[in-house]
Amino acid sequence: MALLDIEDATCHFDMPSRQVVKAVDGVSLSIDRGQTMALVGESGCGKSTLARLILRLEPLTGGAIRFDGEDVHHLQGHALKRFRAQVQAVFQDPYSSLNPRLRVGAIVGEPLKAHGVPRRELSARIDAALTMVGLPSQAAKLYPHEFSGGQRQRIAIARALILRPALIVLDEPISALDVSIRAQILNLLQDIQSELHLTYLVIAHDLALVEHMSDVVAVMYLGQIVEWGNSETLFSDPRHPYTQALLAAVPRPDPTFPRARGHVTGEIASALEMPSGCRFHPRCPDAIETCRSIAPLEHMVAPIHKAACHLVDSAS
Ligand code: SF4
Repeated sequence: MALLDIEDATCHFDMPSRQVVKAVDGVSLSIDRGQTMALVGESGCGKSTLARLILRLEPLTGGAIRFDGEDVHHLQGHALKRFRAQVQAVFQDPYSSLNPRLRVGAIVGEPLKAHGVPRRELSARIDAALTMVGLPSQAAKLYPHEFSGGQRQRIAIARALILRPALIVLDEPISALDVSIRAQILNLLQDIQSELHLTYLVIAHDLALVEHMSDVVAVMYLGQIVEWGNSETLFSDPRHPYTQALLAAVPRPDPTFPRARGHVTGEIASALEMPSGCRFHPRCPDAIETCRSIAPLEHMVAPIHKAACHLVDSAS
């Protein structure tokens, strides 16, 4: 059984103008225990809303999200509290996600207090979490402003780990950090994952970030998944023109590396003015007449690889 199972999830917002914003529109995905899934796409594609639905920070307007077999959006009381302990998040900006008025020990230990862990256990658990992210115990006595950006993200990771969760949602975990320390944080996340057998959902706008850490990649565009697959296959043989364009934009230090094809122009459309047919058609270099009026269905192109594009259909 998958640890996280998303079935036809939708999140629509009714606007005062009577228009409907379809931020997430019929997404189905599942993540196995111990796996890393990357969810990628440009800003405004709906990936952060999907993360908020998983964390139950936003109401679902359709479909279901199950964690360990339980329907997340129907949990109450103890079951909801257990879910909140089991699913944690690390956000993009370690400058704003930590309370500047609290010492690091209080920040990291906050979830323990909220979940009624006895006071006598707090300091040992805080110490262990700080050690796990490579910070000394003395860090507990200091304030966030006394740390660098990378160290602050380590503090945020320690806070996410302290309740011993099963799933961590990493929302752009390194994009606010200096390039020189990004690799350190990624390596740390990978080491912690193998040690604790954690499951990760990594949200990113940049495919390069997730290439080496994800088992499975889902590409999102205007509220829908347009391609999904095993990381190796998707990176070596992207089938959707949008994925090809995202990959073409990844800088490669090796000039002999084969360039991914694809080039798109323009901005992602507003979710208030959803294009007809294939939502990507106004920007797609390969669009054909059918794309303007008929939305493509998903097609399996390999055992763990599917894409929603009319041309994938005709190629298979
Ligand atoms: Fe491009 Fe058409 Fe495929 Fe959409 S369905 S990605 S517009 S070729």
